[in-house]
Amino acid sequence: MRILVIEDESRILEFLRLGLEAEGFVVDAAEDGSAGLRLALAGSYELVVLDLLLPRLDGLRLLAELRRSRADVPVLILSARSDLSTKLRGFDLGANDFLAKPFSFDELVARVRVHLRKGGDGAGGWHLQAGKVQLDLARRQARVDDRVVDLSDREFRLLYHLVSHPGEIVSRERLLSEVWGYSFDPGSNVVDVCIRRLRKKLGATGAIETIRNAGYRIAA
Ligand code: CA
Repeated sequence: MRILVIEDESRILEFLRLGLEAEGFVVDAAEDGSAGLRLALAGSYELVVLDLLLPRLDGLRLLAELRRSRADVPVLILSARSDLSTKLRGFDLGANDFLAKPFSFDELVARVRVHLRKGGDGAGGWHLQAGKVQLDLARRQARVDDRVVDLSDREFRLLYHLVSHPGEIVSRERLLSEVWGYSFDPGSNVVDVCIRRLRKKLGATGAIETIRNAGYRIAA
């Protein structure tokens, strides 16, 4: 099983190389984006681990080039840039998975194995879960009790903020600024309307709790 690691930080690169080799993988490495793209296109790899902030060719541009050449190798992005819009951009460009730095090596290996089992079918996994609600960042869908629900962009972003803070009360103001932006009128009821729509779609009573005068919470 050959894995290509594209990472410019030599400390992380060596850590990944040693760890993955200890797990039985053959590891090739590239320390900048253009060398990484060349190797990814030329070599036959079962998986690519891709950093985003890279010299010479940015990771997202590398990914776009790779997919333009119809290369279907699974790509796992490993990046310190892990805000939602970077993640969504990565998935839009064809990433199969996204792991934020700092990362746990055990989690990385577990995810690598999941993608190798899938055989690079290009399908994303269910990436986030809180209580009964699972979110697929690649497809922007939610799953509750084996029911798959398509979400609008706003619904998805709102649910993402709740699911990524399981058990925490997230205030209406915070959701408003995270999902709609600061320019929105704080007196607006768009959050409540969106929550109502989400509850209806998810069909699970109690999936999203209302905490009076505080905000919303999703069970951990
Ligand atoms: Ca980097």
